[in-house]
Amino acid sequence: MARLTRDEMRGKAQTVLGLIDPAGLGSTLMHEHLIWNITPPPARGEPLKELDLGQWWDLQTRTVKDYRNSTQLDVGVATRAAAEVVQHGGRTIVELTIGGLMPDPEGLAQAARDSGAHIVMGCGHYVHDYQDPANEHRSVDELAREMADQIQLGAWGTDVRAGLLGEIGCQWPWTDLEKKMLHAACLAQQETGAALTIHPARHQDHPWMLVEFLREHGADLSLTIIDHIDRTIFDDDRLFRLADAGVILEWDLFGQESCYYQPNPDIDLPNDAGRLRDIRKVIDRGHGDQVVISHDICHIVQMTEFGGHGYAHIYKKVIPLMRRRGFSEAEIDAIMVGTPRRLLTFV
Ligand SMILES: [Zn+2]
Repeated sequence: MARLTRDEMRGKAQTVLGLIDPAGLGSTLMHEHLIWNITPPPARGEPLKELDLGQWWDLQTRTVKDYRNSTQLDVGVATRAAAEVVQHGGRTIVELTIGGLMPDPEGLAQAARDSGAHIVMGCGHYVHDYQDPANEHRSVDELAREMADQIQLGAWGTDVRAGLLGEIGCQWPWTDLEKKMLHAACLAQQETGAALTIHPARHQDHPWMLVEFLREHGADLSLTIIDHIDRTIFDDDRLFRLADAGVILEWDLFGQESCYYQPNPDIDLPNDAGRLRDIRKVIDRGHGDQVVISHDICHIVQMTEFGGHGYAHIYKKVIPLMRRRGFSEAEIDAIMVGTPRRLLTFV
C-alpha cells in the first residue's frame, strides 16, 4: 500500500475505511474503545469466565476485579455498540485502543462497514505498564516513524490507517519511557498534521507538566487534547490555566458517577451535571471551542448489552440535560461537531 503524502491528507479526516471530507464526520464521540483488552498484561492469559451480572454494581465500581469485564474482543458486540450511536444521532466514534491494549484495526473496519458509523482510530502506545518492554530500547525517531507510518501507511500489520495520535498514556510518577513516547508523538504530529490526544497521569499537576513538555517539543497545542479532565482536575485555577494555554479539554467519563473510583479512591468522580458545570465555566471564560466530551467505555458492564449506560448515553441523556441547563444549540454544536471536526482534519 502506498504512503499517503501530507498533501493528500491535508484538509481531510481519516476513518478506518479511508480519507473522507471532514464535513461528513457529524456528531462525534472523541474518546471510546469498542474492541479492547485493558487487563493488566501480567494477568492476561488467565481463563475468562462468564460475567456474573448479579454483581453488576461491584463490577461497575470495579470493587470486584473480573478480567472478563476488562476484555472486549467481539467484533459483533462492537458493531452493535457503534450502530447504537448512529441510531441516536451520533455519526463518528474515535476509537483509542492502541499499543498495549490489543488494537484490532480489521475488526474496527468491519464494525464501521456493518454499523454505518465512522470510526477514527488512534495510534501509538498506552501507559508504561501496558507497553511492550522492547519499547524501552527504541529511539524517539523510531517511535515517531512508527506512529507516522500508522497514519500514512497502516497500523499493527494491517493496511488500516489511524486518524490521530494517542491516547498516549502517562502514569504517576511519569516515566522516562512515557516521556520518550510523547516526544515521539510530538514529532509525528509535526510530520503528519494530526491531532494528538493524551491520557494524563492521575495527578492534578500533571496536565500542566504536559503543557510545558508539549511547548518544549514543538507540539501544536490547538491540536492537542488533554483527556480525562473529570478525574484529574478539581479546581478552577488549574482548569482555567489549562484552557488559557490553548489545549483542548476533554471530559470523557460521562456516565461514570462515583465516589468509589478504584484507580484513584482519593477522588470523587463528578456526576454528569457536575461535569456540565465545569464545562459551563470554561465556555463562559471564552473557551467554548476547546471542549470535547465522550464516555471512554472500556469495561463490559458499561455497555448497554450488559446493563450499562452505553455509547449513546450522551445522546440519550446528556444533550437533553445540557439543554435543560441552558446550553445553547451553538454551544452544543461546537462540542459535538465543530471542535471534533477541526481536530480530526489534518493540517
Ligand atoms: Zn481511553
